[in-house]
This record gives sequence, C-alpha cells and structure tokens, in this order.
Amino acid sequence: ETPVPSDIQIARGQEPKDVSQLAEEIGLYPSEVFQYGHKKAKIDLSVLKRLEHQKPGKYIVVAGITPTPLGEGKSTTVLGLVQALSAHKNKNSFACVRQPSQGPTFGIKGGAAGGGYSQVNPMVEFNLHLTGDIHAVTAANNLLAAQLDARIFHEKTQSDKSLYDRLVPDVKGKRSFSKIQLRRLEKLGINKTDPNSLTLEEQKAFARLNVDVNTITWQRVVDTNDRFLRKITIGQSPTEKGFSRESGFVMSVASEVMAILALSKNIQDMKERLSRIVVAQDTDGKPVTADDLGATGAMTILLKDAIQPTLMQSLEGTPVLVHAGPFANIAHGCSSVVADDVALKLVGQDGYVVTEAGFGSDIGMEKFFNIKCRCSGAVPNAVVLVTSVRALKMHGGGPTVTPGIPLKKEYTEENLELLSKGLPNLLKHISNGTKFGIPVVVAINTFSTDKVAEWELLKKASLENGAFRAVVCNHWAQGGAGATELADAVIEACNQPSGFRFLYDLDLPLEDKIRKIAQEMYGAGDIDLSADVQKLLEYYSKQGYNKLPVCMAKTHLSLTGDPELKGAPTGYILPIKNIIVSVGAGFVVPLVGQISMLPGLGTRPIIYDMDIDADTGEIHGSF
Ligand code: ADP
Repeated sequence: ETPVPSDIQIARGQEPKDVSQLAEEIGLYPSEVFQYGHKKAKIDLSVLKRLEHQKPGKYIVVAGITPTPLGEGKSTTVLGLVQALSAHKNKNSFACVRQPSQGPTFGIKGGAAGGGYSQVNPMVEFNLHLTGDIHAVTAANNLLAAQLDARIFHEKTQSDKSLYDRLVPDVKGKRSFSKIQLRRLEKLGINKTDPNSLTLEEQKAFARLNVDVNTITWQRVVDTNDRFLRKITIGQSPTEKGFSRESGFVMSVASEVMAILALSKNIQDMKERLSRIVVAQDTDGKPVTADDLGATGAMTILLKDAIQPTLMQSLEGTPVLVHAGPFANIAHGCSSVVADDVALKLVGQDGYVVTEAGFGSDIGMEKFFNIKCRCSGAVPNAVVLVTSVRALKMHGGGPTVTPGIPLKKEYTEENLELLSKGLPNLLKHISNGTKFGIPVVVAINTFSTDKVAEWELLKKASLENGAFRAVVCNHWAQGGAGATELADAVIEACNQPSGFRFLYDLDLPLEDKIRKIAQEMYGAGDIDLSADVQKLLEYYSKQGYNKLPVCMAKTHLSLTGDPELKGAPTGYILPIKNIIVSVGAGFVVPLVGQISMLPGLGTRPIIYDMDIDADTGEIHGSF
C-alpha cells in the first residue's frame, strides 16, 4: 500500500479545470459568472430568479460527533461524498462549505478544505483570502463601530443646533433629508420632510441618539488570532478630548454581520437585517440600531459582492460553493442560505446538495435545522453523521494526545472495550439527528489504525440505535471511490419521505426553548438561569425578541458546558451565564460558560511551517 501524500502535495498535483468550463458544465450563463482568476468565480444571484420555478434537489447536512483532537473529518466527508455522488453515481451534486477564518488557519487547526483525496481545490486560495468576503465583513462591521463612536463624540461635543445643521447641511441654499434620515423621522413619529419645518424639540430628538455608553454591545472585529485585542481602551488620542472607553475585538467570523451574510436570502433581506442590528441602548433604555446611525446602505454596499457565493471545485472536479463562515460555538456555524439555495436549484430535482454544519450535532446541526432551515424554508432530507474509531475511543476515556507525539497503543491497537465505552457519544448524536424526523446515515471515516472488528461494533450499535445506515468509508485515501457505499446509503435515505420537523416552536417562551435544547440535544436535566439572565429575558420579551430562535454559545468539546467532560453525560444542570441578542441576524444567544470570541496564537502556531518559494510561487505548510 502506498502511503497517502500530504494534503498540500495532493492538492499541488491536481490542476483544477478552468472555472469558466465548470460554470458551463453546471448550467450557469456566462453573464451569471464573475471570474476571480481562473480557479474561482462569484455567482450572480440573478440565477435564483432565472431558476425560480426549478424544483430543488435533495438536501443533506453533514454533522459530527463531539470533536476531539483526533479529528472526525466532516469537511473531508462532505467532499468525498459529493465526489462519489458525482463521478461514481452519476448524480448532479454540489458541496456547500464555509470559508475558513484565517485565525485558525494560522493558529493550530490549519486549513479546512478537507483532506487526502477529498479536498477543495486549490486549497491554498480556499484557505486564505478567497474572494475577500471575510474582509468585506470586517469592513462593514468596523464601519458601523467607527460611526457609533464618532456619533457619540459629536453628540457630546456639539450643541443641538450645530448637530442638526451638520446632519442636515445646507448645500447651495437647499437642505434635504437622505432616505435613511427620513426613516429615522418616521420612527420618531415626525411626519415632516422639509428640514426647515422641524421645531427645536423635533430637531433635538432627530439629532441626538443619546447612546448610553455602558450598554454598547457592538465591537470591532479582526480575522487574526490577536489575543491582545480582546480588551482595549479606545479614544486615547488627545483629539478625542478624553472620550475614551474600554472596548474589545472579536473574530470577524463571530460577528453578527457574518451571521447576517450567512442567513440572508438576497440583498434586500440582508439590507433589512443590517438595518435592525442593535448596537446599544439609549439613555431611556430603547435600542439604538445601525439604521439610526445611518449605516445600513453603506454596510450593504460593502457586502454587495460578499453575498455572492464563490464557485470552486473538488479534487475530482465536482462543484463546490464556498460561502460565509460563522463560527459554530458562538454563532450558528453553517454556510450560507444563498449558496445552498443556488446549489439546490442548479442540481435540479434529481440532484444532491451536501452542506456542512460545524462541530457536533448538538452545535452545528441543531442550529442548521432550527435557525438556518427556518430562515431559508429549505427542507432537509438526510443527516450524515461522521465518526471515527479513534475519536470514540477518546470519548471512552482514551489518553489525551499531543500533536507531534506518536499515538498511544489504545488508539493503534484493537480495543473494543474502550470503543464500547465511547459509544454513548455516537448514539447521542444519532438520536439528536432522528429527533428532527429525517434519516441519519453514520459515516465511519476510516483511519489506517482502525481494525475491522471495531468497524463492525460501530455499525451494529448504530443500526440498533436508530441509524438508517452505517457505512465504512475511505474517501480520504481513495477520493470519491472510497465513498460509493456512503453515496448509495445517502441516495436511499433521500428516497424516504421526509418527516422533517423543528425541535421547538417559535411561540415557546425563550426560557423553554433553551431548556428544550439543553435537555433534548445535550442530555441536561435542567438549566439554571442567573438572576441577571432572568432580568434580561424579561427585557427581551418586552422588546419583542421572544419569538426569535435560540443560538446557544457553548463549548463544542463536550455535550455539556464543560469542555473536559467527554462521552455523553446526562442529568446535569446547564448554567446559562449571560444572554445577548443579535436582532439583525435574528436570534437570541444564551452563553454557557466562558466562550472565547477571539482566539490567541500559541507558542508554536503553524506559521512556523509556512513558506513560499520566491521563484516558483510554490507554497509550503499545513494548510
Ligand atoms: P473536520 O471537518 O471534522 O474538522 P476535516 O475534514 O477538516 O475535519 O479533517 C481534519 C484533518 O484530518 C485534515 O487534515 C484531514 O486531512 C485529516 N483526515 C480526515 N480524515 C482522515 C482519515 N480518514 N485519515 C487520515 N487523516 C484524515
């Protein structure tokens, strides 16, 4: 058996076809394709209008067991599966994946293009700037932050009259409100369009947002693991006249703007969501929005190209749509509604769209169903649940692993006892999937250290515990050819009538929604809400946010809120420490424990392995 070369060696050895050819193959018109070089292109959303009456294809979500450092291989399985469906089963199929954040890419994780012979190609472009969408998210987010602080400063340093005159300037003897300013007047109940006709009281109400700086929730963002920006003081230059305040940065992919990009159905929907973003409260406790700050149109302009999904391909030439990348443990963790929509139309009624949900089923998959599918209206047909023998052994109590140090014998030798002890984690994730009323296909992603008896044990236990099929697959080493059995199982699962249902009704009180997720997805006995959280829940209900779905911010490393607890604990109390709301994205975020919103670089980030050959441009490193 020849060893499988490294991910980057494989990727380098496979020249992708020209993206214009790929676009033609999948039925796009040249006018719908904006090429960025020869290997990637953005797709104009007008294609959705053209294919309005096209029935969608089958919709499959790939989820995983609780992640361990040993890796399960969800992205690899997404790519392997579409390659098998396409090249080996002759089905139109698309993979829809997230654009990776450069934080983890330069930190400890490396790239997210899949691996082995199941990857997005070219992987270096995929993992780095791609077509600039994350940068656009950063720009839009930070424009709003800049406008917020500038506006507070101007309000604090100017009289009512001066503020009003500057907000509605006299240009060559004529003053007029912009469209967004007319919306503000409407919100204030001032039914006037001539700036000269406002009373002094009305001018003041219009000009002063009166932001209560202690309530500001909007932060600046960056796509680098820069831990020293977690907490900062802004406004320290004398030009800001002492109006400094404590603030901080979070990851661009943790931002509400990224979640909005991922959930919007079209530009209009994105614009409306951006307008609703709440950045703070005013001194009367009323929400201050992006629209109040005049930022809606400008932010939408910054995101106008970012809302178009990027077309790439797998190593075997299967189409891949790369779009959006909200983190799964702090946001909803799924690629975009728009990309899935485009793919579902392009594959046609007999085709297959395989999309990915981050981390374990308790995190990405639950949010995929309850948040993303609720937004898009798309009806999923099947879950593929990725697992590996090694990862389950770790859930069974296997020793921790350190990168660079050879695996202990528990992982390299047959050990049915340890594997059995880890099984409850897999079984919990199977039952999480079946609760949504659709078939769960377990994909056992094989590693060279696996033993046949171990696969048999996993297959038997899966089938006895609600899985529709359980399949051993080898697409990492063999590409699509290694996932043909998985493709057959997925096709069969998609031929079942979909009994899809949401886990909770939007009419349930927020507290009950949180409890339902905790009990049914995490195995908790109950939740514990602090007094502060209860107060916030009351406030949110008053503001009308109680009808929103819930986006839990929880560690991905455990079914519980404690990253150290492996396996599938039950009956515990899940503490909810804080609760915030993303009004624009359209969800309420309960925080379970401390979740880092901006990772840091370790002592030896993988940047040490990266290099570029100045003559050939060849790139090295573990992307
Ligand atoms: P996830 O999406 O679950 O985070 P990935 O698909 O990104 O996992 O895989 C993580 C890493 O594990 C990649 O570097 C990939 O090459 C490697 N990997 C995945 N499957 C296998 C396998 N079967 N054998 C060896 N390495 C694998």
